[in-house]
Amino acid sequence: MEIIVENHDFVSTWKDIDSDQFLLKSNNEYQKAEKITTFGSRGIFEIPTYLTVQLDENQHFLLKPIFLQYINHSCDPNVYFDLEKNELIAIKHIEINEELTFFYPSTEWEMTQPFDCHCETSICLKSIKGAKYIASGILTNYKLSSFIENKTKELILTL
Ligand SMILES: [Zn+2]
Repeated sequence: MEIIVENHDFVSTWKDIDSDQFLLKSNNEYQKAEKITTFGSRGIFEIPTYLTVQLDENQHFLLKPIFLQYINHSCDPNVYFDLEKNELIAIKHIEINEELTFFYPSTEWEMTQPFDCHCETSICLKSIKGAKYIASGILTNYKLSSFIENKTKELILTL
């Protein structure tokens, strides 16, 4: 069962009582490619955590506003963090009350806390450890940060 924890105008934070996990749901309808919000940084760190977003090899930042960290992973996501424009973008049509999800490996090369995915979408990759561990043929189906895109190219060149 999910209960609402906090309302933030365009989204609201919910908690799944059974799994004890937070999630973020949209309060609005969005069209594909529409900007949902802008975001900033609460600080840049050299060491990643499970909450940071990767900017560069040794640069990881914490999202501002803080509730954006409750956007969970999905292998078939509906939002994307545009790190060039600092905008959260809808990558498909989003309904009111729909959970916002993003593809963690679209920004994370090697994750500090790998996990088994239970997104239950038809394209679920099951094990999420970072873009480094995903074949480039699969990664090209996703919108990636320029850092991840460049890392993928480097990897192909060194093979
Ligand atoms: Zn999945």
